[in-house]
Amino acid sequence: MRNLLKIICKMLKTSLLTVVLAAILLQANAQELYMPRDIKLAYKKGSRSPDGQPGKNYWQNFGRYTISITAAPPGREVKGTEQIIYINNSPDTLNRLNMKLIMNIHRPGAARFGSTSADYLTDGIQVDTFKVDGQKKNWNNVNARATNQGVGLNKPLMPHDSVKLDIVWHYQLAKGPGREGVIDSTSFYLAYFYPRVSVYDDYNGWDRLEFLDAQEFYNDFNDYTLNVTVPKNFIVWATGTLQNPKKVLQPEYAERLEKSFTSDSTIHIATAQELAKKGVTTQNDWNTWTWKSTDISDVAVGISDHYVWDAASVLVDDKANRRASMQAAYLDKSEDFHHSVQFGCNALGWFSHHWPGVPYPFPKMTAFQGFADMEYPMMVNDSHTGDLKFAQLVQDHEIAHTYFPFYMGINESRYAYMDEGWATTYELLIGRTEVGNTKAEEFYKQFRVTGWINDRSTTEDLPVITPSSEQRGGYGNNAYGKPSLSYLALKDMLGDELFKKALHTYMDRWHGKHPIPWDYFNSMNSGSGRNLNWFFNNWFFTNYYDDLALENVTKTAGGYKAEVKNVGGFVIPFDVKVTYADGTAESFHQTPAVWEKNQKVISIAIKTTKSVKSVELDNGIFMDADESNNKWTAK
Ligand SMILES: [Zn+2]
Repeated sequence: MRNLLKIICKMLKTSLLTVVLAAILLQANAQELYMPRDIKLAYKKGSRSPDGQPGKNYWQNFGRYTISITAAPPGREVKGTEQIIYINNSPDTLNRLNMKLIMNIHRPGAARFGSTSADYLTDGIQVDTFKVDGQKKNWNNVNARATNQGVGLNKPLMPHDSVKLDIVWHYQLAKGPGREGVIDSTSFYLAYFYPRVSVYDDYNGWDRLEFLDAQEFYNDFNDYTLNVTVPKNFIVWATGTLQNPKKVLQPEYAERLEKSFTSDSTIHIATAQELAKKGVTTQNDWNTWTWKSTDISDVAVGISDHYVWDAASVLVDDKANRRASMQAAYLDKSEDFHHSVQFGCNALGWFSHHWPGVPYPFPKMTAFQGFADMEYPMMVNDSHTGDLKFAQLVQDHEIAHTYFPFYMGINESRYAYMDEGWATTYELLIGRTEVGNTKAEEFYKQFRVTGWINDRSTTEDLPVITPSSEQRGGYGNNAYGKPSLSYLALKDMLGDELFKKALHTYMDRWHGKHPIPWDYFNSMNSGSGRNLNWFFNNWFFTNYYDDLALENVTKTAGGYKAEVKNVGGFVIPFDVKVTYADGTAESFHQTPAVWEKNQKVISIAIKTTKSVKSVELDNGIFMDADESNNKWTAK
């Protein structure tokens, strides 16, 4: 904003305009958003730009991962070898690497967000060998309690140089259900399962936050080759494109999979009867399934010898005529999962064409039945439910995460609202088309707003900008409901067309990168051509909540004037519902723009020649903390 004004000042050198512009500048400064000192430094170094673009000095590091694992259910041991080529694109010389060993969350004594049960506990990741550029490093498995582990290098890793890591490791899957582990005796879900290099970034250096099993992802965009070796009759589903279907599947099943890539209707690739006959996979003692994926933030794996397998596909990119594969792996008796592929095709198509209106960026998506209700790149791990509509909604939510945090590279450990808030928003928007406005909004209010608005706790009203890593009690509402309401309020204020233009500006600039909240604010400002800082300041940097009060309604020359006080503080949209003495009624929608000049109290003009009987405020999904003062009745 300041740069822009400088340019305009140069262009227009009349003293009167300078005075006017100085006044605007003062106002703009008054609306500058708080920026922490470490973030300011990133802008100063030019890795981020005040206009919302990645800065001219933007960089991010990159790894090429080749991972080979072996699993043989019901044995719970997973053995792995991996090679990582890690490339330092930063301007900094790195003397050490920080490794993430997320499976150490299962170790007794590991720090956790919540308590856990005995069947969650394991010995964590056991590193057998760790080599840096071919040189073996000492590794202390006994004391490696944490999910972060520093590793010394043979020589400093210079800017634009790379280092090669060779790691051999093993771990036991936890028996207890969680985000990963044993689903049933011969169905496993593997996530966070391999040692990886932490993100080293421009505003924080090494990401050394402990994984506490609450905040979810912050990963670099890497390339992966993943080999999973399992005994015959086990099918494997994973992130990436399967490289060798004809090698691991009998011809009939490989053909069905191939056919599903152009089929709108669901194809049963392997049924329960076929699996029971044990003729689906190639009959070698062991089969190695291989996937490749590029520019992706993580990989996950599902394994089972009795999960049925469905697939179809849907057009996601009209211009490129590209279809995405939708697959599901589940227990045959789970009725909801029988609909999973068609629900998924609907979601992939809808997200691609409507909101966010960006073609689904991956070649496929697999829904795997587990216990997590959790997203992974190209996979979701969802629990079974008897309620079909709820099953669809949860799957929609997890698939929506494809855009945030995966396509957009969100730092979810610090800024969970940058992805959960959007997944929650898309869940409502797609829900409206699936079950209608009323039902979708009822659900949204029940699950995303009620718990917050009726909870007076200090922690619930912490500013949304509060780092997610520093929250406990308020985490859920600050990551999901409140930010989602801010996105919906902005959509209401800008209108769909301008909101989408701004959103696409942000998404086009930052996909495949690591945006932070200020990149979102700045990109939405430049994408919409407006200074929305007053709005962002209100929604992200305050302790506000939703609560309006109808103070007074008085007669004016042209009708009536309703005085509305913003008790809670959030600049929300609302409807003014007017009932006339003749029994007729009218509703006047107010967007958050009504609060731009005065965020505390405003008056709404009701232009009418009729006599008003009553006036009521209706905030819709922006639920009011105190509805007792939302109505006025003529005496
Ligand atoms: Zn989510």
